Amino acid sequence: MKKLTLVVLVLTALSSCSNDENDVVTQSTTQLTQQEIDDLLFLREEEKLARDVYLFSYDKYAETIFNSISQSEQQHMNSVLTLLNTYGIADPASSERGVFKNQTLQSLYNDLTTQSDISLLEALKVGAIIEDLDLNDIHEDESNTTKEDIINVYEKLSCGSRNHLRSYTSQLLSNGENYIPQFISLAEFEEVINSESERCGY
Ligand code: ZN
Ligand code: ZN
Repeated sequence: MKKLTLVVLVLTALSSCSNDENDVVTQSTTQLTQQEIDDLLFLREEEKLARDVYLFSYDKYAETIFNSISQSEQQHMNSVLTLLNTYGIADPASSERGVFKNQTLQSLYNDLTTQSDISLLEALKVGAIIEDLDLNDIHEDESNTTKEDIINVYEKLSCGSRNHLRSYTSQLLSNGENYIPQFISLAEFEEVINSESERCGY
């Protein structure tokens, strides 16, 4: 009988504890608009898409470019995760490689790894496509927020993407292949590839 009372007490203590936690989470989530939340959730998995596709290509071709850029994408994933934690948003990213909650990103992963599987040249093209897409999406995300901590992360990620785009297009060029941007404007693309590599604050 005594034992049972103790169990009930412990359970009550546990449940009141988790209620407090929920209150805190709800409070900080209200600071963001639904659009800002949606953008962060998508971006967390979009950075994972980049990382996972480059890891796929590194496994297949063992070219250092894929390994080093995938490590940078891991840092981008971490930066977005920090924001998710700050605002009490649950992390959508699976710990499993190539698995995505967002179905658009899941089918994009499937298509891009199929293309990367064809040849090293195709895998480099896929790299340029991903960076081109990321830059375009982050521009849009930036227009949806005024929060300084979020904008800082967006800028860090764009800076990284510009460097990655420079790396992939220069490798393509040395293989006699010209990349034509599909998402950002030709003017922005040319400005990026004709400028020097940047330090992005890591
Ligand atoms: Zn990135
Ligand atoms: Zn990148």
